[in-house]
Amino acid sequence: MNPMRHINVFMMTELLLCLTILTGVEKSIAQHAGHDTQGHASHAPATQGGEAETSGQEILLSDTAKRLIQLETALVERKWVAREVRLVGKIDYDETRLKHITAWVPGRVDRLYVNYTGIRVNQGDHMVSLYSPELLSAQEELIQAVRSLDRLRGSTSTIVKRSSERSAQAARDKLRLLGLTSTQVGQIEKRGQADEQVTIYAPIGGIVVEKQINEGMYVDTGTEIYTIADLSRLWLYLDAYESDLPWIRYGQQVAFRAEAFPGEEFHGVVSFVQPFLDERTRTVRVRVNVENLDLRLKPGLFVTATIQAQISDQGTVVGPSYTGQYICPMHPEVIREATGSCPICGMNLVLADSLPLLGHSHEHQAGPPLVIPASAPLITGKRAIVYVQKPDAGTYEGRTVTLGPRAGDYYVVKAGVHEGERVVSSGSFKIDADLQIRGKRSMMNPHGGRSVGAHAH
Ligand SMILES: [Zn+2]
Repeated sequence: MNPMRHINVFMMTELLLCLTILTGVEKSIAQHAGHDTQGHASHAPATQGGEAETSGQEILLSDTAKRLIQLETALVERKWVAREVRLVGKIDYDETRLKHITAWVPGRVDRLYVNYTGIRVNQGDHMVSLYSPELLSAQEELIQAVRSLDRLRGSTSTIVKRSSERSAQAARDKLRLLGLTSTQVGQIEKRGQADEQVTIYAPIGGIVVEKQINEGMYVDTGTEIYTIADLSRLWLYLDAYESDLPWIRYGQQVAFRAEAFPGEEFHGVVSFVQPFLDERTRTVRVRVNVENLDLRLKPGLFVTATIQAQISDQGTVVGPSYTGQYICPMHPEVIREATGSCPICGMNLVLADSLPLLGHSHEHQAGPPLVIPASAPLITGKRAIVYVQKPDAGTYEGRTVTLGPRAGDYYVVKAGVHEGERVVSSGSFKIDADLQIRGKRSMMNPHGGRSVGAHAH
């Protein structure tokens, strides 16, 4: 993309106006000083009070000329700037908050209490009524064991009593392993009668997102009956292109919008950057932890997200600083001053400095970068040029600068200008084009010679 192409049309008309003024004065300087304005060797007398270039790369402008080209300058300064990274992605379930209800024993599903998906259940709600011959016989074993234990209460043989107690306990354990709760086992003992049906309860509260079985079907041990999702926390997967990767760090804040909620902004924290690239899409998945206590966000929603990557004086991204703080390796949003366990997942918090994910500690010491407005440099593809205001405020010197990354309305500058100098932030094109039109060595046309056509490159 050639930025000159955009500016070409309107600029040319203004330039013609500009040129008349500048060349007009040039003539008068030439008469007064007898100075060859086409030459590069000597410096124009800046005290003339008019305008003249001091060399091919310096230009002296009168106040009128400055007004005509609407010249503006800006300070070269050190400040924190952020590069905005825009990504798209999709809301998904938090995998750690998905639970499956499976059959612990083979049998026939006689009743599904929750018979369509989307229903909200609480932990402990009854979900399935199952007829299981295996469970039935295990219950009978327990009842027999308890009965014989009762009969032997009066017995004097401790060995016989002990062995009977042991077999009753083994029968209880078997039922528990088959998925019954202690309360259910106790009830069977008390009643002395086996249940033909066994009830399966919800292990967590949440939304039933999948129902894999219908009433009347037979299930084996391990067959999934329901999937329950806790939607109070979600994962957002963003697709990052290779060029986005240098700007993405674990722990960065992410702002995102979904079409379902116009004008609203949601937030999350980068919790994982996939360590490999998807060869097909050329993207890397970035996982973002999102709190969703009001359950408004839904898995499957598409979102557009932005990350403000703070840029250091090295031109690299500055990761969030967690030095000396404790953090959950799974939940970067959990940051504590002292050790403890994560309120979300229960993992032990670790000292952030020990997390390899947070990476380069030298980045934390990096200072703010030297920046200039993004409108200041003229970029030819190979070179970037700025016009720097000289102390006398009327002379502008063209200089080649080494640019770092662009960050919003700024460019990071690695070399060529110093803190405290002023650069032309508006009007550089016109200064440069004026030099070109008059066949001078301009920055865009460093070899000089008349080259109005050079605008169209
Ligand atoms: Zn955690």
